[in-house]
Amino acid sequence: NAAALPVLGKTNMDEFAMGSSTEHSAYQITKNPLDHERIPGGSGGGSAAAVAANFAPIAIGTDTGGSIRQPASVTGTVGAKPTYGAVSRYGLIAMSSSLDQAGPCSTDVLSSAMLQELISGYDPKDSTSSKKPALSSYDSLVDAVAKAKSDLESGDLKSKKLRVGIISELNGGEGFEPEVAANFKKTCDDLKAAGIELELVDCPSFKYALAAYYIIMPSEVSSNLAKFDGMRFGVRVDADHVTDMMKATREYGFGDEVKRRIILGTYALSAGYYDAYYGTAQKVRTMIQRDLNDAFSKFDVLLSPTSPNVAFKFGSKTEDPLAMYMNDIATIPVNLAGIPAMSVPNGTGEAGLPTGVQVWANQFEDDKMYYFAELLELLNSSAN
Ligand code: GLN
Repeated sequence: NAAALPVLGKTNMDEFAMGSSTEHSAYQITKNPLDHERIPGGSGGGSAAAVAANFAPIAIGTDTGGSIRQPASVTGTVGAKPTYGAVSRYGLIAMSSSLDQAGPCSTDVLSSAMLQELISGYDPKDSTSSKKPALSSYDSLVDAVAKAKSDLESGDLKSKKLRVGIISELNGGEGFEPEVAANFKKTCDDLKAAGIELELVDCPSFKYALAAYYIIMPSEVSSNLAKFDGMRFGVRVDADHVTDMMKATREYGFGDEVKRRIILGTYALSAGYYDAYYGTAQKVRTMIQRDLNDAFSKFDVLLSPTSPNVAFKFGSKTEDPLAMYMNDIATIPVNLAGIPAMSVPNGTGEAGLPTGVQVWANQFEDDKMYYFAELLELLNSSAN
């Protein structure tokens, strides 16, 4: 409002932000504007679809495990998850408090940079928001985008000695569609041709990231959603006794995916299992942070594909939660480490649908992420 940007509307999403396709919405599905038989990604499928369909120039989403970046990837738009704490979460409904982060999506990198700049900064109403700006090399995110453009145009990139790491575990191998892998390779080749040094970097802990996420996230979900008990928040189904009322309310008010995660989280946190599940997952989280710290001691940014596949058809993964969870294989380590990452379109794959490349930067180096994202956008547009 302060920026005089009118809010055009609220968009559809998976219930409580749980999903990768917007098929778990409590309302209806959202169609991918590029192919109406396919998903727009999730959970922020509505935001990405609104931008891809040109209903809105920019939109906001939240990203707990990839819900801004994966929808961007499958709709051919740009989406960024800022450093944890860079944007206030005041007013959001918490899904998994140690992972949730709001961020922008748009058709181009500059618009996302402008929107993040607008919504970021310390907020006394969110004690987890950071006082430190998410900048290391440039004065602003918009400045970083402008610098990328002038560096590329002046042919100045070689002298900058920029170092980019390609994550071996996410290098388009098993689980990635061949076209996604091929486009990723082409992006890397384009960067090399522009004078940027690329090298493989191992992050061995990443093979446990999805498993750790599906313990930590449901555990926090089970705690955060306990308040929807019919007493203070949300819908209420009346009954004669309070426990019956709570049971009936939660049975009626939550969808299947939400219930699945509450049950998982309650189990993982129960006495006797706590150490084996939650404790182990937290250790994995530390290992992921260490692998990334090591990587960022050598590289300015890291690259990987965003989504392992293009937009899939409605219904093709709803019966198989594990297949659905695999969509986030390349986005989840980012949330577990609290670092920023964003998705930029890098070509088309199966059925002519868009694929995305993901730029990873170190904590509070969102400016470097935008710098590289702009380079990728420019290289991609000159390739087409
Ligand atoms: N798709 C992931 C999940 O289902 C991520 C969700 C999100 O980022 N909100 O948990």
